[in-house]
Amino acid sequence: MKLSKLFTKTIKEAPKDETSKNAQLLIRAGFVDKVMAGVYTLLPLGYRVYKKIEQIIREEINAIGGQEIYMPTLQPKERWLLTKRWENMDDLFRFTSHYSKIEYALGPTHEEIVSPLVKKYASSYKDLPVYVYHIQNKFRDEKRAKSGILRGREFMMKDLYSFHVNDKDLDDYYEKAKQAYVRIFERCGIGSSTYITFASGGSFSKYSHEFQTITKAGEDLIYICDKCKIAINKEVLNDVENKCPECGNKELKEEKAVEVGNIFKLGNKYSEPFDYYYTDEKGEKKPVIMGCYGIGLQRLMGTVVETLSDDKGMIWSESIAPFKVHLLSLKQNEQAEKLYKNLEQAEIEVLYDDREEVSAGEKFADADLIGCPIRLVVSEKTLKEDSIEVKRRDSDEVKIIKLKKLITELTL
Ligand code: ATP
Ligand code: MG
Repeated sequence: MKLSKLFTKTIKEAPKDETSKNAQLLIRAGFVDKVMAGVYTLLPLGYRVYKKIEQIIREEINAIGGQEIYMPTLQPKERWLLTKRWENMDDLFRFTSHYSKIEYALGPTHEEIVSPLVKKYASSYKDLPVYVYHIQNKFRDEKRAKSGILRGREFMMKDLYSFHVNDKDLDDYYEKAKQAYVRIFERCGIGSSTYITFASGGSFSKYSHEFQTITKAGEDLIYICDKCKIAINKEVLNDVENKCPECGNKELKEEKAVEVGNIFKLGNKYSEPFDYYYTDEKGEKKPVIMGCYGIGLQRLMGTVVETLSDDKGMIWSESIAPFKVHLLSLKQNEQAEKLYKNLEQAEIEVLYDDREEVSAGEKFADADLIGCPIRLVVSEKTLKEDSIEVKRRDSDEVKIIKLKKLITELTL
């Protein structure tokens, strides 16, 4: 991709109505555009990151047997009445058809759709377990939407639902899902700052587990056990008597954190209202046991920005960077153009700053702001030596390497 062709532009000043670091950097770099509080457009650079995150999640959920579907946003009121969430869920968007006066919900989550769906197909113990998920747009009437893309009123979520014959089967799958989540956050580059956190379990389980990433931008307070590398959400700290539930350690470290994902045992909370039971080996009717597992995609993307950035801009890990390489030409477009083509041929994702009217200083500043992992600079000086300057965004070291060695170096 050539920067001169990209329809978005970087902005020097952070927008005044955004106080969060993630939104300031993402808007300045042209990754997202704010439509109104809690609602953002993903622009070409941001959408590339989003899609890479989505693909990592998809691979890991497929690896634990998840079957991908796509459920609608527009949902019938009756289903929400059955689960009593029509009246009780504060952040449910409800609206009325102009023509028929029929009321609808805009899906904030999908238990009301997925339970009756799976019920149609899985009625015998032989049909279970079932694992289904989708990556889909959610709507939530969030009271406060001040954290940039961390808390949207419209956002994408991966929600996985599992259906089991008993608690034991759910427990086994729950552990698998937990490990899949560990891999997802690791692959997105925030593994070392993300903690499996004991949180409130609702009415069917003592605890649920949240994946909390340490950042000042977080709205949650967690207490970390350094020995076990796990944490406890403040909301259940008293329940665990202020000590690590795994090892009993009382020296817990308080940190602010953001919940990037969670896993939850639902029991029969959402199967029962839909009269969803299965028949076991003896022909007896038994309740279907469910689990649910969520990750907010923009929240994950925003958390990466909060965690991996400096005063110059963002620092993407290669796995989710919009481009692997940011190629910068200092008045050497002919040579740079050749290199750009070679890189594309070698299937290296490259963003090429070919803008002619822009100063070197501005180009360097934009490369740091956008945050691709590797910066290449073609200048008169390096070309004299048949070389190119290579610098990683996460390091200060500048290397000069021979042009003919470049592709090998980059594909190592
Ligand atoms: P929170 O306590 O932050 O409001 P939640 O408990 O409402 O989160 P869930 O309903 O369990 O969250 O949703 C699953 C996942 O979806 C969360 O772990 C989070 O990653 C993401 N998520 C929830 N609300 C939002 C939002 N408003 N914007 C972006 N992502 C969200
Ligand atoms: Mg919420």
